[in-house]
Amino acid sequence: MNFIPTRGYEKESEKGVPFSTAILNPGADFGGLYAPESLPKLKEAFFIENRELSYKELAYKILKMFEIDIDESVIDEALSLYDKFDDPKDVAPVVKIENDLFVNELYHGPTRAFKDMALQPFGYILSNLAKKIEKKYLILAATSGDTGPATLEAFANKENIQVVCLYPDGGTSDVQRLQMVTESAPNLKVIGIKGNFDDAQSALKRLLASSSFKEQLKKSHISLSAANSVNFGRIIFQIIYHIKAYLSLSQKREIKEGEKIYITVPSGNFGNALGAYYAKKMGLPVEKILITSNANNVLSELINDGVYDIRDKKLILTNSPAMDILKSSNVERVLFDKYGAKRTKEMMDDLNKNGIYTLSKDELDSLQKDFAAIDSDDEYGQKIIKKYAKKGYVLDPHTATCFRAYENLKQKDLKTVICSTAEWTKFAPTMLMALEQSDEKKPDIEALREFSKKLNIEITPSVKSLFDKKIVHDDVVDKDDIESNILQFIQS
Ligand SMILES: *Cc1c(COP(=O)(O)O)cnc(C)c1O
Repeated sequence: MNFIPTRGYEKESEKGVPFSTAILNPGADFGGLYAPESLPKLKEAFFIENRELSYKELAYKILKMFEIDIDESVIDEALSLYDKFDDPKDVAPVVKIENDLFVNELYHGPTRAFKDMALQPFGYILSNLAKKIEKKYLILAATSGDTGPATLEAFANKENIQVVCLYPDGGTSDVQRLQMVTESAPNLKVIGIKGNFDDAQSALKRLLASSSFKEQLKKSHISLSAANSVNFGRIIFQIIYHIKAYLSLSQKREIKEGEKIYITVPSGNFGNALGAYYAKKMGLPVEKILITSNANNVLSELINDGVYDIRDKKLILTNSPAMDILKSSNVERVLFDKYGAKRTKEMMDDLNKNGIYTLSKDELDSLQKDFAAIDSDDEYGQKIIKKYAKKGYVLDPHTATCFRAYENLKQKDLKTVICSTAEWTKFAPTMLMALEQSDEKKPDIEALREFSKKLNIEITPSVKSLFDKKIVHDDVVDKDDIESNILQFIQS
């Protein structure tokens, strides 16, 4: 199967590219992204015949349907990384918490956020491709806290790939920071930035535009790639768990043959939601995908009003930092799928020039056939965390936003699956504040201990041990010193 650019081709004669090219060089023409030319279709029988498959078996089957140009043995090896998850037989458990409400727990991987679901196998495949063509790649990541650890973990000691990860010093939780600065491997570099996440991201963008930087890379025979969710290599793995959750419900006889469900996704860069959209288009019986935003409500505005408007918006810091985002990259793939390349380019040009694009009435109608959206706020999220903790179910501040959708957006009496994107241990200070209804933010280690004691639950061992690990990356630099710092690492 080929992949085609969302904003069309710069030259008419150009054609789509195979999967391997799309993931090694994810930047498409006109600054667009790669999207699949078509999607495989799942017939009704698929959902009956495959109920008993393990996660890995299902993943293998779906990847085969995409006809990607990756050797079978490489796919096998990549998927075997799911054996590192808490329960290799049940990689992403689906847990019933109300009569009609289920949680798809996507955080049982090494860094306790759902990013592992895709980055683990993706890291293996990317490194393998780079080795095969004997090229070296550099991956630059700016993180607000979850992407960084998952990217480092995915590429640690992988051949032909180096990773540099920028994080805002003081802008992540202690657990997230420790997950990064204790990750020891010769091909990894972690740099704290004096500034916030925006500063880290701008620094990265300046670097990508810097001619001296590009020249140095060239001299060292290093190409740039990307591991954020603009890379389709991550999206393909994010389709699978939505299908798996449906099969689990079906296997447990919670739904009848062909019965539709709602899927609810706490959204930031829209990768998780896009995976659900592709699954629905492939034939997964989904009534609608319910999107939640936090106070940074660009996505809910787009889906409700048909306007993406960031002209007067400033990034607001919330309890759900992975959703604190204004430019949500993967929406572009939905626009492309629905309205085509020409119109997508028009809208993206509008956004870059004027900070706004607007859908027509018909375009909005079409979007609302697949999506509904609402935004949540910290106060509401804290209430939900407390309510469920008291009932014995612990959910993190991102997952908590989904209850807004569950309570307000359902128009039919159907079962709902919430995508749970992180384990509570990554956000212990916020969790404890919710439980105690307090404004006092305690250090992570204290909050972890108190929260676990109060609810009589265990602190995940890999999180607990972070506090005793040796810090191997201790650089915290000024924005102006990032480039020299990275060059030093690459040339060493
Ligand atoms: C990344 C992340 C999100 C947002 O996911 P997108 O695919 O970017 O929309 C939500 N919650 C957590 C905990 C995350 O790490």
